[in-house]
Amino acid sequence: MPIFKSLEELHHMLVNKEISCVELTRSYLDYIDSADSRVKAFLTVTADSALMKAAKVDKKIAGGESLGSLEGLPMAMKDNMCTEGIPTTCGSRILENFNPPYDATVTERLKASGAVLLGKLNMDEFAMGSSTENSGYHPTANPWDLESVPGGSSGGSAACVAAREVPFALGSDTGGSIRQPAAFCGVVGLKPTYGAVSRYGLVAFASSLDQIGPLTTNVRDNALVLNAIAGHDPKDSTSVPFVKPDYTRFLENDVKGLKIGIPDEYFASGLNSDVAEVIQKAIRTFESLGAEIERCSLPHTEFAMPAYYIIAPAECSSNLARYDGVRYGYRAEADDMIEMFKKTREKGFGQEVKRRIMLGTYALSSGYYDAYYLKAQKVRTLIKQDFDRAFAKYDVLLSPTAPTTAYKIGEKSDPLAMYMGDVYTIPVNLAGLPAISVPAGFVDGMPVGMQLISKHFEEGMLYKAAYAFEQNTEYYHQVPALLKEVR
Ligand code: GLN
Repeated sequence: MPIFKSLEELHHMLVNKEISCVELTRSYLDYIDSADSRVKAFLTVTADSALMKAAKVDKKIAGGESLGSLEGLPMAMKDNMCTEGIPTTCGSRILENFNPPYDATVTERLKASGAVLLGKLNMDEFAMGSSTENSGYHPTANPWDLESVPGGSSGGSAACVAAREVPFALGSDTGGSIRQPAAFCGVVGLKPTYGAVSRYGLVAFASSLDQIGPLTTNVRDNALVLNAIAGHDPKDSTSVPFVKPDYTRFLENDVKGLKIGIPDEYFASGLNSDVAEVIQKAIRTFESLGAEIERCSLPHTEFAMPAYYIIAPAECSSNLARYDGVRYGYRAEADDMIEMFKKTREKGFGQEVKRRIMLGTYALSSGYYDAYYLKAQKVRTLIKQDFDRAFAKYDVLLSPTAPTTAYKIGEKSDPLAMYMGDVYTIPVNLAGLPAISVPAGFVDGMPVGMQLISKHFEEGMLYKAAYAFEQNTEYYHQVPALLKEVR
């Protein structure tokens, strides 16, 4: 079955003509047809355009042309990245009929790399949530236990990679939305440095925090995808002109002398003791590989959550003001314009999105701005300084990605309890740092993710550490029960 192969293996299969690109694409589409009725990761499947593109790749192969490393390989994207002429709903009813007139930069770059888009993936509405239950369409299931959530907001991206419906997917991460679902679904998820991957054409949630990144089954594949999507983009004013390395050159399975800091605050109360044990074991693995481990402190960690829940809703209330039924998306019938705005937003947005808009509007309103927004920005600086101090000593910081494993669909109804699941991921977004979640073990058959954090633009360091860990543990060979039937 091609679905168990890595990107590199699939590439060689195409180059050596063991399988044609049309056959490969078809086998994935057929598999999606059967598996996704249970996983429900996809909102749109783009079978026709995928097969057309595959035929073009086959022509290239037949003509003896060389293939790029992602050329002809299947993938899917979270439904908040614009794809020209292909629905981009953001998981929201308000954008149900929205077909963007242009491609996001990541879409353009993946197209240029020759990767084949198989479809668009489910998510929490406008990326607000941690379980994909806030999707305006349907929840997605965790392939390890179909009754559990896949995490969120990039739940569709993590679930479809875990179920091997595609070898890679793109997600977006504002407060943990790549890393937490990657942890819950037992896959590798990277949130790049803020400014490393263009946000042009990514539908904005909280613009100063949003970042796109790859989800894959293994670390090498992740680096290959980052190679294709990272780099400066003049269309995004927050994109940074930096020298992009070949990220695969950091995959050397050697962490001798690597300095790893273990922040005390990430192992405090709230962390499930079984998850803690898995992470402690991971730390010992690094120790046995020759890394230097030391406890450290990021003293302002407890203020990250409250600061995030001011800053992110504030930016969201401003970004989501554009959905008024006038230019695109859903429009409600009404007698006058103001009534139309009101009804469109009332019917088009789900509960969580409305909650965030209200929180943000309140925090920004005159008289409260200094008390909330300005103060939150000051806290943000303190959090960044915590990390700066830690990185003066350490190459990498290590923590759990989430305090628990995946919970059951419908189990968490209190929004605050849901918010607390992001305690270890949110500080990283506030500081704009890169971080990766790597499979680190299991608790009662459900995957646990380990988070590694590094300095700005040092994704290579994350790959180096993650790869050594992966190569010396057996976790990434394990697959969900769902797949045992296929194998
Ligand atoms: N779960 C967090 C939230 O609801 C983070 C979401 C994200 O990273 N997009 O805001």
